[in-house]
Amino acid sequence: MTNTDTNDIGATVNQCVRLVNAGCEMVRITAQGITEANNLALIKKSLRSKGIKVPLIADIHFNPNAAEIAAGIVEKVRINPGNYTDKRISANQLTLRDYYQELERIAQRLRPLLQICKQNGTAIRIGTNHGSLSGRIMDRYGDTPEGMVESALEFGRICLNENFKNLVFSIKSSNVRVMVQATRLLAEKMAAEKMDFPIHLGVTEAGDGEDGIIKSAAGIGSLLENGIGDTIRVSLTGAPEIEIPVALAITERYNHARNLGQKGISWKPTKPKLFGQRETIAVSGIGGNYPVAVLAEKIGKTCLVDEHFSVVGNLPDHNFHLLEICEGNASGLRRELDKMDVESSKPIVLKNKYLTSDLLQFQVNSAIDFGSLLIDGIGNAIWPTAPNINPEAVNNTAFAILQATRARITRTEFISCPSCGRTLFDIESALQQVKAATGHLKGLKIAVMGCIVNGPGEMADSDYGYVGAGKDQVTLYKGKEIAFKNLHPDEAIQKLVELIMR
Ligand code: SF4
Repeated sequence: MTNTDTNDIGATVNQCVRLVNAGCEMVRITAQGITEANNLALIKKSLRSKGIKVPLIADIHFNPNAAEIAAGIVEKVRINPGNYTDKRISANQLTLRDYYQELERIAQRLRPLLQICKQNGTAIRIGTNHGSLSGRIMDRYGDTPEGMVESALEFGRICLNENFKNLVFSIKSSNVRVMVQATRLLAEKMAAEKMDFPIHLGVTEAGDGEDGIIKSAAGIGSLLENGIGDTIRVSLTGAPEIEIPVALAITERYNHARNLGQKGISWKPTKPKLFGQRETIAVSGIGGNYPVAVLAEKIGKTCLVDEHFSVVGNLPDHNFHLLEICEGNASGLRRELDKMDVESSKPIVLKNKYLTSDLLQFQVNSAIDFGSLLIDGIGNAIWPTAPNINPEAVNNTAFAILQATRARITRTEFISCPSCGRTLFDIESALQQVKAATGHLKGLKIAVMGCIVNGPGEMADSDYGYVGAGKDQVTLYKGKEIAFKNLHPDEAIQKLVELIMR
């Protein structure tokens, strides 16, 4: 997705060209208002004149009029069911009648868009975000995977009633576990309602660098392992081109599997007892009440290591038989689990060997292999071996996987949006400054968000938020409450630290 100002046609076209050259197969562009929506025509014309035929997607929040204009121009329109027609209302306890009246109001507002899309062959993605559910959904379902799924499906049903089937669905969250759980539920409910439409995958506000790569790979890859997902977007804070190699590293694995005719592995546990919080004995610091451990070879021994790659315990050879050591990639690990005795109280160690010397490939593949099981509560220790990668980088990756899947928290969690045409400050450098000032605060969740329109909602359950409020203006949040308004970015970092230390 571009992060230029959509009204800056030249900059947006150039960014689209860079994205396509990097391997991007469809480009999403913000169209927050009528002017931006109209400018999509100029952007498309310029791209086509350069021979670039990449499909374009308009990203719409709050503005059906912009959606209707965009639908006549681009190949797909993404609408957010949480805010397409609704402001976030505090309509407490809607009666059933109120609820259905609201749905009828939405249907009325959607019909003109569906008509334009039918005439132009334009697709619609119904893209639900965890952080921006409508008041109606919050009242009925709360902030739950069921609510997220229903938010998408109620729009989907309206489209089908109008005989509109050019649809794609997605459910995103910055919390990898929630994203995986909600998307699996979406796939299940869509199948039950015979909605045979593509599903788009992504982890929102994944952050930047290693943490962002690993969160995205663990979330998207876990679902692709299950055979769910037709398009993906990796969202990292920074220039959008940096998202593409990560996305390609993820898809490569599944394109290969698909070419071999392999199907996804069901997430429904064949041995439910092995899933979730399973009671085990403790063996050399693994299992029992110990947090999920990381194993590594150090000085010729198998050791438990901490996040600084210091040895915190040894695993003597004579204890190996007390552990259930499963070895392989994600599907291999699941096959190993299938052989396991459900009554066993041995701790489970997930092990895999990577021969690549490419750090990104290692990060992506290990995040999928271990992450897809940790998300389901499986694994008391992980043991990645990668002889061609620097051992400290292997260890950082292992701890980032535990953090991303919330199996074990050893770092500050940074939630940051990829930025888009709504961002009016240098979010990349702001994120680096916030990280430098707060990176030692283990366990806190700190959000850095590009705009005040969607930022506060999308930062979900963050403890603190640094949110762009206008040109070179930042508003700080503690939880959902505003703590300081409209600060200059130069003073905002110091104020954020003060706020945390209060
Ligand atoms: S939160 Fe970030 S990505 Fe989302 S609309 Fe605002 S600036 Fe754009």
